[in-house]
Amino acid sequence: MSGNESRLQAIYQITNREPFPAEIPSKLEDTWATDVFSLNKMKKCLPKDVFKSLKKTIQAGEQIDVSIADVVASAIKDWAISKGALYYAHVFYPMTNATAEKHDGFISIQSDGTAISELAGKLLVQGEPDGSSFPSGGIRSTFEARGYTAWDVTSPAYVMNTDNGVTLCIPTVFVSWTGEALDKKTPLLRSIGAMNKAATRVLKLLGHTDIAPVNSSCGAEQEYFLVDANFANSRPDLLLAGRTLFGKPSTKGQQFDDHYFGAIPERVQVFMQDVENQMYRLGIPAKTRHNEVAPGQFEIAPFFEAANVASDHQQLTMTILRQTAKKHGFMCLLHEKPFAGINGSGKHVNWSVGNPTQGNLLDPGDSPHENAQFLVFCSAVIRGVHKYGSLMRAVIATASNDHRLGANEAPPAIMSIYLGSQLENVFNQISKGEVQGGYERKGKMHIGVDTLPPLTKDAGDRNRTSPFAFTGNRFEFRAVGSNQSVSGPLIALNTMLADSLDWIGNRLESELGNGTDLNAAIQTVLKEIMDQHGGVIFGGDGYSEEWHKMAVKERGLANLPTTADALPVLKEKYIEELFEKTGVLSSVELESRYEVYSEQYILSIEVEAKLMIEMAKTIIYPAAARHLSDLAATVGSLSELGIDFDQESLKKVADLAKSMLDNVTKLSEAINKHDFKTTEEHMKYCATTIRSLMSEIRQYADALEGEVADDLWPLPTYQEMLFIK
Ligand code: ADP
Ligand code: MG
Repeated sequence: MSGNESRLQAIYQITNREPFPAEIPSKLEDTWATDVFSLNKMKKCLPKDVFKSLKKTIQAGEQIDVSIADVVASAIKDWAISKGALYYAHVFYPMTNATAEKHDGFISIQSDGTAISELAGKLLVQGEPDGSSFPSGGIRSTFEARGYTAWDVTSPAYVMNTDNGVTLCIPTVFVSWTGEALDKKTPLLRSIGAMNKAATRVLKLLGHTDIAPVNSSCGAEQEYFLVDANFANSRPDLLLAGRTLFGKPSTKGQQFDDHYFGAIPERVQVFMQDVENQMYRLGIPAKTRHNEVAPGQFEIAPFFEAANVASDHQQLTMTILRQTAKKHGFMCLLHEKPFAGINGSGKHVNWSVGNPTQGNLLDPGDSPHENAQFLVFCSAVIRGVHKYGSLMRAVIATASNDHRLGANEAPPAIMSIYLGSQLENVFNQISKGEVQGGYERKGKMHIGVDTLPPLTKDAGDRNRTSPFAFTGNRFEFRAVGSNQSVSGPLIALNTMLADSLDWIGNRLESELGNGTDLNAAIQTVLKEIMDQHGGVIFGGDGYSEEWHKMAVKERGLANLPTTADALPVLKEKYIEELFEKTGVLSSVELESRYEVYSEQYILSIEVEAKLMIEMAKTIIYPAAARHLSDLAATVGSLSELGIDFDQESLKKVADLAKSMLDNVTKLSEAINKHDFKTTEEHMKYCATTIRSLMSEIRQYADALEGEVADDLWPLPTYQEMLFIK
């Protein structure tokens, strides 16, 4: 097809498509978690003692009793077969943002040659996928090539319709044979453990005796774009890089803001209904849906769940979004910045910590005692963000998220914390020591800080420019990328909180040991934290130039604009120590992660650069050349008639095409440079030289799009992709 034929055909197909039949939504009660092997189902089909033992592991985090594995495996298998499953898969989360699966049949051949469906306990508990196709950052070469998957009992098994048919999916961790984590789940589970230990210690010091395991919670808001597949499939950049490498901004952008919370097109609504239905069946509590700021952009958010389950569910959500989009003739773009000049997509990770006995520990609560407890945990977060803000930046550092974090649309690459004016005020008072003279209340533990104004639950004011904002009873990490697994961010948050709570535990113990009463001890510790770490609190405009200057110069906060700046943080001694002492990652594991992520960064930029070169040469340049030849012919024949016609535009297009090609040549040379001394140097090179050549090329190509005759332009335009549904 030449010129814009494929575009016209796409538009024809979209406008003439049969509407996808909307399913009559079943009652939620009938669909909810039907595809999950839930506690309820376990209770029904497992012997009492087996169920009790398993429940203990799931709810109290006790180690699984391997002797029950066979019984459990057989029950899971029977249930899965009743749902039509022929296969089972260990599902794991390698150090990419993807979900991986190793499929096996239930079939087992008996000695007499007959076949039965079987799932032995040992196969449920442990698997051995071909580890060599997943990144290990050198761990495997140092140790051994094999990787093992091991059942994560705390995340329920489920059945899913995959390319293989109905499959029983078993969430697992993925480790090397010596136990090194090769995945994103293992350190997440460890970070929850570390945080639980430290939080329990502090709760004891605060006078609690009945303390259930403390877990972290996560509710992740997922933003995404939907583009019709007819358009997406004729854009190599969307297919291979997940974002447009070229494209002139549409005349109607998002400036009218009429898309935000606007009506959702019917076709999208049917898609969303389908997505939600599938999520409900898998026990994922999807909750909201509305249009986002940009045209063609939407959001889905579940009710929050325990971090580990939420993280698995988030991965499933991304899978379901992508697959369902295909089914409905869309492409779902999870890239952080699929369209230049249009708002990108993030994944707001709402995070809190709590347990069944004390409730949400980041909820201000009603009594003075709860208030004090809240302030202790909140101050632990403040200290964490101040000490480990660079780590928070590092765990959201990807080539794609860099397009968002640098710009004035997403929280900037400086980590600060927003508390809301009320809470900020409270902490300021603490810092000035103005809360000393408390009064005794009858029957209530006197904590001193009860002289503070009672904290209302809703923070009220919102600050959308903060990367990390307190929103009433949780923190919202807003700088996370839409494409990312939430594990990395959750691991960082849990681990830095564990570290802070340990520090607080030490300080409280030493104060109490000196005979100070609890009330005074808390005040001393809170004040110390404010004195040392209060500088990370910021309530102003995070996008402003002043803040960028002030943050670095006056507050000493790090501004790490690109992944090349942020990832090397993982190599710093204090980060290594943080992970070592909390037991979340050994130094070998941390180093391997650095290797994997930096390699991914370099690779994804190089792939984009190559693709850009190819598209510029084989798609855009030919269109410009055709246009030039048409124009030249017209100018020529008109001049034969003595009419002097538009040489200007001829020259302009020729210049643009030439400049584009010159830069393509430069970029081709640039990506052939290989003599880097260090990975850091290579990353820097990608972030600067390669990226700036790419934006040069794009600038010329996009200008050409504004000049070349529309019927010669081969790529679906922004306008078409964003507005035709
Ligand atoms: P907004 O767009 O205003 O930020 P949403 O309702 O879209 O709000 O998303 C808020 C998210 O925060 C939801 O996923 C919600 O379940 C989650 N959330 C609420 N409370 C907590 C909590 N204690 N811990 C973690 N996440 C929470
Ligand atoms: Mg939000």
